[in-house]
Amino acid sequence: MSAVEHRPVAAGLDARGAVRAPRDRVPAAPVAEARVDLGAVADNVGLVARSTDAGVMAVVKADGFGHGGVRTARAAVAGGAGWLGVTSGAEALELRAAGVTAPILCWLTAPAQDFRAVIAADVDVAVSTVPHLRSVAEDAARLSTRAVVQLEADTGLSRNGARPGDWCELVAAARRLERRGLVRVRGIWSHLAHADRPWHPGVDEQRRLFDELVGQARAGGLDPELLHLANSAAALGHPGTHYDLVRAGLAVYGVEPVAGRVFGLRPAMTLCARLINAKRVPAGTGVSYGHRYTTAAAGALGLVPLGYADGVPRAASGSAEVWVGGARRPVAGLVCMDQFVVDLGGGGAATGDEVVLFGPGDRGEPTVLDWARWARTNPHEVLTGIGGRVPRRYPRAAGAPRG
Ligand SMILES: *Cc1c(COP(=O)(O)O)cnc(C)c1O
Repeated sequence: MSAVEHRPVAAGLDARGAVRAPRDRVPAAPVAEARVDLGAVADNVGLVARSTDAGVMAVVKADGFGHGGVRTARAAVAGGAGWLGVTSGAEALELRAAGVTAPILCWLTAPAQDFRAVIAADVDVAVSTVPHLRSVAEDAARLSTRAVVQLEADTGLSRNGARPGDWCELVAAARRLERRGLVRVRGIWSHLAHADRPWHPGVDEQRRLFDELVGQARAGGLDPELLHLANSAAALGHPGTHYDLVRAGLAVYGVEPVAGRVFGLRPAMTLCARLINAKRVPAGTGVSYGHRYTTAAAGALGLVPLGYADGVPRAASGSAEVWVGGARRPVAGLVCMDQFVVDLGGGGAATGDEVVLFGPGDRGEPTVLDWARWARTNPHEVLTGIGGRVPRRYPRAAGAPRG
């Protein structure tokens, strides 16, 4: 008798249509989904908040790192975040349209864009150059109002932000526009280059330069009430970087941001699927494109309906494992666009059984950090890569905030 039994798949219809439930069966769980624990999001924000005297800005860019921007934002605010951080104006406006009233900073806009909707929605705009600042001020003038801006300084990342040599000119322009009532400089901020290594000497160099630039801004007549520099790793691992606000992204989603340190965060996302096929194969069976994997012994293969188009990193082929049937099993061969194969060995896993790609790790299932290691990337890329055709579900845990 075969070790692989073909149980009827009670879990039927899903957004991808990979499995259809017969008409007389109630569709149950979809064949693949990302479950998001919003209670964990709130708790993680609370943990960051308790580790600092500064306020917490929950970074909910990129659809809340793939967890759902609006729901994550609400959970983060419930957990104690006083600010929300996003990149584009569109992301900020989506939060406002959903009724999120917390202060929001958007930090990746183009100088030439129309800022009127963002200004009208009471969203702070980060600016790095004089033309950018003027563009925001002009739109404020058109609305007969005052835009609130936060000046970004480039203290070493060499990404956005004003270089130290251009800082005084930006400060002077901002002060002139403040006098004209067109802008208010609420904050000054910068971003760390050694973002996951709070002990790196570069962090303190950036901090010193940041202090110097803030001093120049005050000397130039600005009176910023919010200074911020730290991301998650610095928020948890380097109190000297905290100032008035810490911008926490990764930590909010429960991924430990500093290698080798455990702060007690709880991963919020569980990515799971159901085997949509399981079959016995003999030893020596080549699996998936190019036969990069060959079964060592007779056993079973299971088919998982998630692929690199869903964000399962192709680069993790050959090293990744998934949790199925109470054990970790290797991904067999190349991850394809929409599917991959798992070597079930001699176990009794069957069609319809649950496969966990990553989760909190409690049961022994892999975590986002495992996938980042397997794919030789960072956990941010794994989380934000989970594609749009994977339905997000928000199971209500006892005491969890309403999503
Ligand atoms: C994405 C981002 C963050 C969040 O970084 P984490 O390391 O995920 O905490 C903070 N600040 C800025 C400017 C960012 O772009």
